Amino acid sequence: MTEKGLLIVVSGPSGAGKGTICKQLLKDAKKINYSISATTRLPRKGEQDGKDYLFLTREKFLEMRDDSAYLEWAEVYGNFYGTPQKNVEEQLNKGTDVILEIDIQGALQIKKKFPEAIFIFIVPPSLEELATRINRRGTDSREVIRKRLHSASKELEYVSEYDYVVINDVLDMAVERVKAIITAEKCRPHRKQINFN
Ligand code: ADP
Ligand code: 5GP
Repeated sequence: MTEKGLLIVVSGPSGAGKGTICKQLLKDAKKINYSISATTRLPRKGEQDGKDYLFLTREKFLEMRDDSAYLEWAEVYGNFYGTPQKNVEEQLNKGTDVILEIDIQGALQIKKKFPEAIFIFIVPPSLEELATRINRRGTDSREVIRKRLHSASKELEYVSEYDYVVINDVLDMAVERVKAIITAEKCRPHRKQINFN
C-alpha cells in the first residue's frame, strides 16, 4: 500500500520569502505538488493564470465558495484567496506531498480538517529586512505595501500555532531547513507503514 503524501502548510508575513523558498523546494524535490490557489487579486507583472494563481473575478470566486469548491478560503489584505479542493486529496492519496502556501486563517482551517498536516512558519530575520524585501520585490503599490507591513507584526503572534519556524536569512539555508523538516516528518512512526511479513 502506498504511504499517504504529506500535506505541508507554509505561512508567514508577506515578503518573508515563502514563494521563493517553495519555488526552490519544488525545483529540488520532484515529488512535491504545489497547490495553485484561486484569488481575486489582480495578477502581478510576470504572474500567469493557472501557474501562479487561478485569477478569478469576485463573482466566480464566491460562486465556487458557495459550491464548497475550496478546502479553505480567507480574505487576506482585502482580496479573497482559496485552496481548490480538487486535486489535493487525490495527490495525497497517491502518495504525493502537497504544499499549501496560505495565510494564517487558512492554515487554522486546514489544521481542523487535516490535523496530520505539518505547519511551517517562515519569518524574515527582522522587520526592517521584511520592508526591504517587500519594497525590492517591486510588485506592489505603496498602499498595498503599507497594509502588508502593518499586518506583519500581528501575524508573527501566531507563530505558536505552527509546528516549525524557519528564519529565512540566507535563502539556501532556509530551503535546507524546510527540506530537513520534511525528511524528519516522513520518519515519524505514525506516518510509516512497517510490515516485515
Ligand atoms: P512571500 O512569498 O513570502 O511574499 P517572496 O518569495 O515574494 O515573499 O520574497 C519577497 C522578496 O524577497 C523577493 O524579491 C525575493 O526575491 C526576496 N527574498 C526571498 N528570500 C530572500 C533571502 N533569503 N534573502 C534576500 N532576499 C530574499
Ligand atoms: P500574495 O498576494 O502576496 O500572493 O499573497 C497574499 C497572502 O495570501 C499570503 O499570505 C499568501 O500565503 C496568502 N494566500 C495565497 N493563497 C492562499 C489560499 O489559497 N488561501 C489562503 N487562506 N491564503 C492564501
